Formats: sequence, C-alpha cells, structure tokens
Amino acid sequence: MAESNPAQANGASTAPAAPPLAAYTPRYIDIGINLADPIFRGRYHGKPRHPDDLTAVVGRAAEVGCTKLIVTGSSFKSSRDALKLAKEFPGTVFATAGIHPCSSSIFSPAHHKHHDESQSEGDDAEHTPACDPDPTQPIADGDGDGVDHARSAHIIADLAALIAQARASPAPAGARALVAFGEFGLDYDRLHYCAREVQRHSFAAQLALAASLDPPLPLFLHSRAAHADFVRLLKEAFGPRLERLARGGVVHSFTGSVAEMRELMDLGLYIGVNGCSFKTAENCEVVREIGLGSLMLETDGPWCEVRPSHEGWKYLVEWEAKAKAADEAAAPVVEAAVEDGPGRRRKKQQPQPQPQGKKNQKKASEVPDRYKVVKKEKWEEGAMVKGRNEPCTIDRIAKIVAGIKGVSVEEVCEAAWANTVKVFEVDA
Ligand SMILES: [Zn+2]
Repeated sequence: MAESNPAQANGASTAPAAPPLAAYTPRYIDIGINLADPIFRGRYHGKPRHPDDLTAVVGRAAEVGCTKLIVTGSSFKSSRDALKLAKEFPGTVFATAGIHPCSSSIFSPAHHKHHDESQSEGDDAEHTPACDPDPTQPIADGDGDGVDHARSAHIIADLAALIAQARASPAPAGARALVAFGEFGLDYDRLHYCAREVQRHSFAAQLALAASLDPPLPLFLHSRAAHADFVRLLKEAFGPRLERLARGGVVHSFTGSVAEMRELMDLGLYIGVNGCSFKTAENCEVVREIGLGSLMLETDGPWCEVRPSHEGWKYLVEWEAKAKAADEAAAPVVEAAVEDGPGRRRKKQQPQPQPQGKKNQKKASEVPDRYKVVKKEKWEEGAMVKGRNEPCTIDRIAKIVAGIKGVSVEEVCEAAWANTVKVFEVDA
C-alpha cells in the first residue's frame, strides 16, 4: 500500500469488499493541456529547438494512466490545431474551441491582423498564453480602443461555423473531437494582452453564442482576478442560477478565494486544479474546500508545473516518504503494485530530509522525476524538457489534492474521472 487512507486509519467505514489500494491503477483525464502549442513540436518562440516529440508526450501521459487529454483551443488557430490533434489521436485527444481573454484583442479595432489566424502570428503570439501574469509585462490601464462591433459579428459567425464544422466531422472511428466551448472568460491579471472592456465583450459575445448552440456544449472557462464580472456575465447569459447552462462547465486553473470557489460550486460549476492552484497556503486552503463532486484535474502544460517553492510541494514530499516507507515495509507488495506505473524512478534508500526550511534544490531531490528531464538544448528521446510541463505530471496534482484534503489518491482520481466523463463525455 503506497499511500495512506486516513478514513481507513481512523476506523471510518469503507466498503469491506474494496480491493487493496496497492492494486489500484490510477486513471487521469487532463482537462486542460495546451498540446496545440508549438512547444510540443519542438518550436520555441518561432525557432525549432529539437525534434517534434508530441507523440512521445502523449505516450508518457498514457504510461502514467493519463489516457484522455482535453486539448485547449484558445484562438482560431489553436482551436483548429486542437481539432486536428483530436483526429490524429482519436479517443485519446479531445478539443475545445474558443477565444481566450488574452487572445481577445481581435475584437478591438487596434488589432491590425486578420482575425482568422490561419497564418502564424509573431514569434510569441503563436504560443498559448501562460497561466501566470508575466512580471516582465506591465499591466496596461484604461480600456484600449474599445470594441469593433462589425468585426465582432464576423468573429462570432466564424467561431459558430468552426464549431458547426467540428461537430459535423468527428474523429476516426466515430470518436468525438470537439467536447467543449472554450477556453474563454476574463483575465484581469493580464490586461496588457487585452483591455477589460474588450475582454468583457469577447466573453459576453461568446457566452451568447454558447447559449444559442443546439445541442449545447459544456463550457471550459478561465477566470483570473475578475470574479464579480465573470459571474455576472455568466448569469446574464444563463440565468441567475445558471439554470439554462444545460451541459455545465468547468472554471479551470482556479486560483481564487474560498468564497469565490464556493459561489462557483453553488452555481453547479466544476473547479479545475493544476500546479498554479497550490502556490500559497491560501491556495491550498481553497483546494481543501473543493468538494470531490466538483473537482477536475489538469496540468495546463506547458505551463503551471508544480515547483518546490509552492506550498503544495510538501504534500509530494510526504507522499514520497510514505511510498518509501511502504517500500521498506513490504517490498514485494510494492514491487507488484502498478500504482505509479512502469518507468518510475525513485532513488533508493536515501535518507529523507525534513521538507521545512530547506533550499528548493534539496526539496526538488526529495520528489524524484519519473522521467529524465533535460534542457531543450540537450533534448534527447524519451526525456522531458525542463520547464515544459506535460500531462504525465498529472499524478502530482492528484497526490497534492489527496494530501491537502486528507483522502486517498484513488478517491481523488476516481471522483475527477467521473466528473470529467459526465461533463465532457470523453468516455463514449
Ligand atoms: Zn486558462
């Protein structure tokens, strides 16, 4: 048994017929992975740095039990690319289609590029927007140049056509390709990409389109430092209890407050958690309060990896220490366990230093990487690239959530799996 189950340890009743935890093979659906980003093809800021290793990324995900990937569409181009990937990996990759708040300057008259980004944009514009505010980019104030309403009507018509076309052409063997409307929403942490007014217009216009779809699609939503406007616009589109939001939705990469999270849960929305959700003690308190019935897991790769400096890291250290103790107590049992999948690399018999007060490097060594990690300049086959988060790290998200909530990894994985299948129907 490689992980604790406090409920059992405390004598709380669990189903007596349940198989031993060591026999549990975790399964994951990464609900937010930006695989359409050229970084997964070896391109960084417009320059090729190493071979296209997207297939290996999908393979590593499968090895850890992450067998379904919902690839985020955040612009016309990335939505089309995500849909192409869904056809390349039918039944494994699924796509969303929408316009991210950081890509919403296309609604503004100042945006000189044609809104149909079938041509690659500039070096940096081709990457998906990072999850975090960029400290090198000051947040612009003011409301920019406003909204170009004629252009907006074109954009929404094009998005409606893209969605209709995607729904009419499933992936091979009848697998679904498009499973959600999004990623869209509001991001007031990053106004340098798009002013508030234009973001609000983009969100409201896409919500109106989402509300008009028949049959409707679930929503893949983004909300950063914009909770009040975010909820207000959702209610304007779907009713005060979101009663007209027939297929539900997830607010991904959640980093808001407990009160904000509760309001979203009360509205029936799901909460997506990734490495950015564990940065501070306050973040972890929010995660503790997310009901398992509202939880979904994601990596948001290539961004949002869990780092040793994050508050949540200590739960990984704890998990490793418990796994090691289990190794020592019952080596044959753990050897037979498939919990962590093949290829797991754990340093043997090293003393485990206490996590508190240690430097990040030391903390990092306490949680071994499953795969070798190399710099992109030293890319090699089978290795992960330093700083490029991948779906195969989603086990870390589940372990940290389990540690924070004091439940087993199995409970976290199974709840998130069931929630995701219910909303996005990726199991059909
Ligand atoms: Zn996002």
